[in-house]
Amino acid sequence: MKLCPLCKKLHRSDDSLNNLFNDVFVLCYNCFSTFKVIFKRFKIDDCMGLAIYDYQSIKDHLFRLKGLYDISIAPIFLERFIFYLNILYEGYLIVRVPSSLQDDLKRGFNHVDKIFENLKSKRKNFFYKNRHYKQSDQPYENRHLIKDVIKVDKGIKTQGKILLIDDVLTTGQTMKTCLNLAKKLGAKKIKILVLSMVCR
Ligand SMILES: [Zn+2]
Repeated sequence: MKLCPLCKKLHRSDDSLNNLFNDVFVLCYNCFSTFKVIFKRFKIDDCMGLAIYDYQSIKDHLFRLKGLYDISIAPIFLERFIFYLNILYEGYLIVRVPSSLQDDLKRGFNHVDKIFENLKSKRKNFFYKNRHYKQSDQPYENRHLIKDVIKVDKGIKTQGKILLIDDVLTTGQTMKTCLNLAKKLGAKKIKILVLSMVCR
């Protein structure tokens, strides 16, 4: 039996898919069925991206992790797809889009690292912000300025495949900046994986 972190009910996985995996999921099937899975494919420049959920259907849960620091719900987002995602992104180096260092320090963890923690590929977060800057605080017309804020750690070179990850894709400017930087570093293939996207 598992305790579902959303409805707080003890549950035994009793739907047919869960039976295959023998109670491995933290989230009960009732709660999971409220998450709208979209598996939407999109492109930024010439790179393919994948968004897993409709944003509205998960935004409250995301806030609970990100804003209320409830780390217990971090596994619920990817647990049902982790097997598939590990096959899809085998051999990729996972690199997170940088978030506000101040927020991470306040939280004591980075929520994106936590959400994607069970992806097996190697990871290295070599992007950072050179000053306190939150894209979500900026008026729309200033959001291109992000490209002067994101920098790469010294001495990083990569000729391999990179998977850029983030929780929510909104304007895509931050992602695009990281994409261009990764290309400059010499990455030969880049893909993008986000939990959700605000419809563009
Ligand atoms: Zn539940």
